[in-house]
Amino acid sequence: MSSARNGDRAGVDCVINWCELCEAFLVDEGMCTRVRDSSFIPPHDCALDGDRIVVACSPEHLAELIKRTSDRPYVEAELWAGKIDRVLAAHPQGLSLYALATETGLTQDQIPRAALWTARRGKPFAQ
Ligand SMILES: [Zn+2]
Repeated sequence: MSSARNGDRAGVDCVINWCELCEAFLVDEGMCTRVRDSSFIPPHDCALDGDRIVVACSPEHLAELIKRTSDRPYVEAELWAGKIDRVLAAHPQGLSLYALATETGLTQDQIPRAALWTARRGKPFAQ
């Protein structure tokens, strides 16, 4: 866990300046930390896949945000499905299984498991 001041993010890049719980604007000080969240897939930075940064106005609100995330299961197949969605959004014409594996960094075994997870949720991949 890191506390953050404007200009000093203590090694964690707090990407927003408001509390995600109460929406208070953080003028001088806020707190942020990384949480494991398999639903989090940033649009352009795959290094942060599944590793969301939460920002809060106080230790109490940060603790609540961490609790809410930890109450949610971390599902590898959900993370893989998000990686596939991101790649397919950039290739609307579609890709071969090999190209999809190369672009997502997934194995050819993980891709069908992600597809199964997505199908069970009733949500199609990006079209
Ligand atoms: Zn707050």
